[in-house]
Amino acid sequence: MPITALPATLAADQHYGVDFHMHSTASDGALSPAALVALCAERGLSHIALTDHDTMAGVDEAEKAAREAGVGLLPGCEISTRWQGVGIHVVALMPNGLQGPLVEGLAQQRQARIERALVIAKRLEKMGLPDALAKARAHAGSERPLGRPDFARALVAEGVAKDWADAFKRYLGSGKKGDVKAQWPEVGQAVEWIVGSGGVAVIAHPLRYQLTRRKRGLLMDAFCEAGGQAVELVNGQQNPDATRDLARQLVERDLYASLGSDFHFPGSHAAPGSMSVVPRTAAPPVWCHPRLSALGAVG
Ligand code: AMP
Ligand code: MN
Ligand code: MN
Ligand code: MN
Repeated sequence: MPITALPATLAADQHYGVDFHMHSTASDGALSPAALVALCAERGLSHIALTDHDTMAGVDEAEKAAREAGVGLLPGCEISTRWQGVGIHVVALMPNGLQGPLVEGLAQQRQARIERALVIAKRLEKMGLPDALAKARAHAGSERPLGRPDFARALVAEGVAKDWADAFKRYLGSGKKGDVKAQWPEVGQAVEWIVGSGGVAVIAHPLRYQLTRRKRGLLMDAFCEAGGQAVELVNGQQNPDATRDLARQLVERDLYASLGSDFHFPGSHAAPGSMSVVPRTAAPPVWCHPRLSALGAVG
């Protein structure tokens, strides 16, 4: 699979042709797994991971497309978890695919998502969106378990929210009625599934949780304690000072650094491979983790 060798260290202001955080129609992305891979190839990416929310259902299709396009594809997903009342996402990079305890873990996540959608629907019905579940389902466009974006589209289509941002700001975003987290496992549980199944666990977008630096450090400590190995040093667009500061927190804990765009759909600010540049840091890139050595990493 080594398409191009990846460097052993992260230098400042480099682009690596790598994107280890992207979504497809297997969750809340707009492109099919094959179309996503094709776009990545067109944009010159050499190594990518498909990381749909709580599912690896798109991986087979992506793998086939990646073989044909000559792109290195790392199977993965993004697991919804909780830590101290905060919703935390953990990216699972799974070099050997879906196996081990993660099989049962994702089955549990699927059930949790189904139950959560019922709770969200009930709450939104009380807030002016009748038949919320059926409407969200219509927007999902498939039988996959529902996510908050499906409810956001329904809120906008029915005129309850004025746009997508308004739907999250008033109904679905962090701390709002439609932000239901009770069904998600503790962060350590997800890390156990991932690490016990041969994978690398990565804290997704650590700067997006509105945690203080100290609290973010405590999250990282708990994550390391559970066996987690990496953190997204760059997720989409970030403030450079915040990224440098985050890099220090990784180095202090011997955590690997991952990179991803969090791409969901064309036309948004994110595209596959588009993300802020990496600062110079002693934190090793995640592709140097021994479990990912089949990527043909170090050049
Ligand atoms: P869920 O996985 O069902 O909890 O939905 C979370 C998804 O909703 C995220 O992955 C984003 O795609 C989207 N999302 C979450 N918060 C916001 C927000 N404040 N604005 C826009 N989209 C959001
Ligand atoms: Mn999403
Ligand atoms: Mn996320
Ligand atoms: Mn994501």
